[in-house]
Amino acid sequence: MLFSVMFCNNEIIKNQNVMNHELIKLPYATNALEPVISEQTIEFHHGKHLQAYVNNLNNLIQGTKFATADLETIVKESDGAIFNNAGQILNHNLYFTQFSPTGGGKPSGRLAAAIDTEWGSFENFQKEFETAGVGLFGSGWVWLAAGNDGKLSIVKEVNAGNPVTKGLKPLLTFDVWEHAYYLDFQNRRADQLNSLWKIVDWKTVESRY
Ligand code: MN
Repeated sequence: MLFSVMFCNNEIIKNQNVMNHELIKLPYATNALEPVISEQTIEFHHGKHLQAYVNNLNNLIQGTKFATADLETIVKESDGAIFNNAGQILNHNLYFTQFSPTGGGKPSGRLAAAIDTEWGSFENFQKEFETAGVGLFGSGWVWLAAGNDGKLSIVKEVNAGNPVTKGLKPLLTFDVWEHAYYLDFQNRRADQLNSLWKIVDWKTVESRY
């Protein structure tokens, strides 16, 4: 089997001011989200899967018009392998930073009011969000997203999709790729989605709105 070889020269990278994307640091210890997300899942998901997307993107953008672009611009303007890896980095950055060991409960303020306007109650929103995640065929992400007018919607995206490509602002996301839950929940995606509410850091989600 043939593989294309990525040419990597640190001097060229410096001279062209290439954007070097980095693995985000987690705002909690790797075991802090247990039992909802195990330390082993965090170590594979953040340390292996996300790291691979970061490495891939840094290789793929060399010599392209995306070499100096920020992540969101790449997601909005690229396609193919560059889009897939950039999308997965943006998605996981939003995912990992929305959790806290002291999370859970309900949103407040403007976001809570907008959820009530759209779905009648927070509990009804949760139910519809979980149903969307369970019903997403294959790998992907379920999102709470906002339009420019503040109107909220639940958006299903396959593979590396992110609502920014539809002009929406991503607020909250649950990862339904099997790598996100298989070590802890095996095939029980619905149980994983239902458990994640216990660790959502609503202050962070509200700050994105
Ligand atoms: Mn993932």
